[in-house]
Amino acid sequence: MAWFRREHTPLPPNEQESRVPEGLYVKCGSCKESLYRNDLLTNLSVCTKCAFHFRIPARERLEMLFDSPWQELDAGLVSADPLGFRDTKPYATRLKDGKEKTGCADAVVTAVAPMGGIPTLVAAMEYGFIGGSMGVVVGEKVTRAIEKAARERLPLVIVSCSGGARMMEGTLSLMQMAKISAALARLDDARLPFISVLTDPTTGGVTASFAMLGDLNVAEPGALIGFAGPRVIEQTIRQKLPEGFQRSEFLLQHGMLDMVVDRRELKKTLVRSLRFLLS
Ligand SMILES: [Zn+2]
Repeated sequence: MAWFRREHTPLPPNEQESRVPEGLYVKCGSCKESLYRNDLLTNLSVCTKCAFHFRIPARERLEMLFDSPWQELDAGLVSADPLGFRDTKPYATRLKDGKEKTGCADAVVTAVAPMGGIPTLVAAMEYGFIGGSMGVVVGEKVTRAIEKAARERLPLVIVSCSGGARMMEGTLSLMQMAKISAALARLDDARLPFISVLTDPTTGGVTASFAMLGDLNVAEPGALIGFAGPRVIEQTIRQKLPEGFQRSEFLLQHGMLDMVVDRRELKKTLVRSLRFLLS
């Protein structure tokens, strides 16, 4: 039996896909220009016309950041579906579909390799896996990554791309917020740097925990970053929201972020920041 039934028409899903679509030509979601797919990929999936940042899979992110092949950590951790949850589809089916679609066992890939010559631990979230949501597996993998960083004295970078906590795991997914935050506090005690990279979208329980806890909080241009989405806020406070509300540039202007960095400059900026933080 379903736990609930929708009585209203669901809101239309977020339009941007979790990766650059297949095909020889790809239409830019912002300027609508037809782009040659290979040009787009060599430009790190940033529109060559208007610099719109396409959403990218976790592995493409790691490839972009690391100097060389990486060692993946805890690749075998999979969700146990603790509630036997089902909404419009059984959760078990969603897990299976996510795995087939992305080749990832859950919504984060954690790995270690040199970045600009500095051995670094990077956790990259995978939006294509149930909207990059954080359940027990994401929480555990990120926590283990932080603990490894502390043990081996490595700097940490987490690239967020997530709709928030995973409702199919109920309160267990919410507990991950506290677990990760506590591990980050220990990393801070060990005086090791953590840079949080926020990409489109970073919302819900991910924003409300580790994504905002970086020694540096860096965002990609135009990313949606917030706790509740703009429509929910608008309907609650019954006021029109200002232009660009909850986008990186707006948050930078209002003191919520340290930097907004173009993806093509991201690695260089992270390496420079780590050199400074580690010195
Ligand atoms: Zn464009």
